[in-house]
Amino acid sequence: MSSGSLKDVHWLIDLLQTIEVGIVVLDADNCVRLWNGFMENHSGIAAEQAVGQDLFALFDDLPRAWLERKLSAVRLLHTRSFSVWEQRPYLFRFRNRRPITGSEPLMFQNITFFPVTNHHVEVDSVGLLVYDVTETASDRRQLERTNAQLRRLSQIDGLTGLYNRVTWESFLSTEFERHRRYRTEAALVMLDIDHFKPINDTYGHPAGDEVIRQIASLIKFNLRQPDIAGRYGGEEFAVILPETDLDGARIFAERMREVVEQQIIQWADVPLQITVSLGVAPLSETYHRSDHWLKAADEALYRAKGSGRNQVVVAGE
Ligand code: GH3
Ligand code: MG
Ligand code: MG
Repeated sequence: MSSGSLKDVHWLIDLLQTIEVGIVVLDADNCVRLWNGFMENHSGIAAEQAVGQDLFALFDDLPRAWLERKLSAVRLLHTRSFSVWEQRPYLFRFRNRRPITGSEPLMFQNITFFPVTNHHVEVDSVGLLVYDVTETASDRRQLERTNAQLRRLSQIDGLTGLYNRVTWESFLSTEFERHRRYRTEAALVMLDIDHFKPINDTYGHPAGDEVIRQIASLIKFNLRQPDIAGRYGGEEFAVILPETDLDGARIFAERMREVVEQQIIQWADVPLQITVSLGVAPLSETYHRSDHWLKAADEALYRAKGSGRNQVVVAGE
């Protein structure tokens, strides 16, 4: 390049034209001085049309305030500056034409801004390198979507769609602390299917699964927005009722008992009639840990089983 021969210039121009990076040079008034092949191909604007034009007139959707600030910082400080897709997905609104990353409609871009010095020392022009990072961005976004989905799936019981035990217990602990701190009311309901084993034994495990699924649907149907339901064990469910007093909890439990009793679960040609037993424990100041609260609900449930099943028992009553 030092020889400055015409041959070298051709070679350099070829390189500028074919490189898969956008190259733009703007003068002191933000008019285009250089516009390479990449920019022509993706914008549809030929170099002859672009050169001499105000960049902001060529693209009316550029983030003007931001870009002007960026350009003047480069001119003033004589330093490079960058724009990354995570913060700003693109500067030039180009369509994504890569087949592999066809799912992204627009090209993601990283941009480097660099000072271009003229013969005098002053910087007047600014160069822009526009990198197409659609593939990286698309992969990253896909990975983030998958991670979010995995996170959600790992909290949810596969059969019922309710929270699994570990997740539900972490909610129990948070709700316990929150209600104790603010001295607000809350209640816990444990629910267990009556005589469930014979269903498995008589009609098979898939029939038992269907019963579990149907009971879970009935629970979901009867929840209010803040209530938190989980599958606690095989055929055992637990529901946290925030801001709910004893009467409210009793009404919820009794309604659950009734809707299950009335629902006929069809398994092939067999109509199954199921009942459930429920234990209710309103939050009390005597519980020092969340598992004390849980134990109270479980003991109430145990008493409901002992006194004939298909009923609701309240802790301490
Ligand atoms: P009780 O009225 O005293 O509650 O009687 P039960 O038969 O319902 O009580 P028990 O807790 O002894 O029975 C629970 C059975 O649930 C035992 C287990 O084989 C079955 N089970 C646990 N998880 C699942 C599951 O995911 N699917 C099916 N089909 N059965 C399950
Ligand atoms: Mg049972
Ligand atoms: Mg059980």
